[in-house]
Amino acid sequence: MKWLTALARVGIHQARNVLKLLIGRPLTTPPLGSVTLDQDDVELAKKWLKNRQDWFDESIVSEYEQGFAQWNGSKYVFAFMGARVALSACICALDLQPGDEVILPGYTCVVVPNAFHFAGITTVYCDIELDTYGMDASLIASKITPKTRAILMHHLYGLVCRDYEAIIAIAREQGLKVIEDCAQATGAEYQGRKVGHLGDVAIYSSEQSKVFTTVQGGIAVTNDEALHHRLQDYWDRASYPDEKWIDKLLHNLLLNYYQIKHPQRWWRGDLAELVYGRKRLISTTSEEEAGIKPAHYGMRMPAPIAALSLHQLSKIDRYNELRRQTAKKWDAWCETNGYRRPVVIPDSTPVYLRYPVLVEEEKKRDVSWAIRELGVRPGVWFLGNAHPVNWNIENCPNADKAVAQCINFPTVI
Ligand SMILES: *Cc1c(COP(=O)(O)O)cnc(C)c1O
Repeated sequence: MKWLTALARVGIHQARNVLKLLIGRPLTTPPLGSVTLDQDDVELAKKWLKNRQDWFDESIVSEYEQGFAQWNGSKYVFAFMGARVALSACICALDLQPGDEVILPGYTCVVVPNAFHFAGITTVYCDIELDTYGMDASLIASKITPKTRAILMHHLYGLVCRDYEAIIAIAREQGLKVIEDCAQATGAEYQGRKVGHLGDVAIYSSEQSKVFTTVQGGIAVTNDEALHHRLQDYWDRASYPDEKWIDKLLHNLLLNYYQIKHPQRWWRGDLAELVYGRKRLISTTSEEEAGIKPAHYGMRMPAPIAALSLHQLSKIDRYNELRRQTAKKWDAWCETNGYRRPVVIPDSTPVYLRYPVLVEEEKKRDVSWAIRELGVRPGVWFLGNAHPVNWNIENCPNADKAVAQCINFPTVI
């Protein structure tokens, strides 16, 4: 029965393709995720699918951690199965306790507040600015209470947050810890250093929609000796995902490549769906969206994912340069069409995971105009202030505006 439905779906999709060919429309529109996957990543994933006896080889994970540390300029690096897990490790390392409060942007991914809620911590939301979509430092003071222990700040869309130094200064003044969420900004630089070094700890992601990708994966870093020991404790206590999960992850990499990146994805993607489709994993399950901790949460990164991450890392600078070049095209588009360009703060180098633009609400609700006029499918995240969920967060008018109006253009086309 499942086979029949899959076949029917493929049939309908291919019929649509034929129709598109007949009326002269492009067969595929550029994708939303996994754009840094190439044939060599696929070969590597296939090699690891055959080489199961080394899946729990810790030395390969260490090799990746050291490679990332060197590239990122970090002292201590720990690899997990997601930035959300790395965040949980940071929360534990910072010794945040149930009842403590943390201030975070009112425009985030649901898995970020979830990590705090899983630890019993109260989340307090601060509005963002609309230059770089980072937390607005001028609003932080009014959010601080005697229970506030930490601030989580982020660098979104690959842009270095406008109030980076101001946020750090407030935290230092008030004795608060800073977690930098660099999940969308791996490789972005400020004053000649990669982001993630002004705070106490930072997290990075190699999930499928991020700057580099292994479908799922994340990192926690610190330069602090004591925090390093506490992160190490957390990592030591974490377990590896089981073999079935790793098998699925590797197959998801193949699926993503054939469906999103392969030059003949219009038919290779369907073939991959028929062959591997039953192994599909989703990054954030509906239970997670509802704030329930999933059973597989809290894992560390196993060898195959670490090997793939290291390989992705070897290409990240090249891809980030391509992203910056593509961004120039979107800059020009903004100029011509009267939209505001995202702000690149002085002395910073963005990586433009995506190119965010505030457009009219109706142009976000229905993006077919962009597919027609520009030949690309814009991203519409964030779909809610706790993406993809929309929470009723009060006093964050800029976050509400971004949810209603911010679309993002792809930068690897
Ligand atoms: C994707 C993302 C995360 C979570 O990363 P995972 O690796 O999927 O856990 C956290 N914060 C932001 C801003 C993100 O975009």
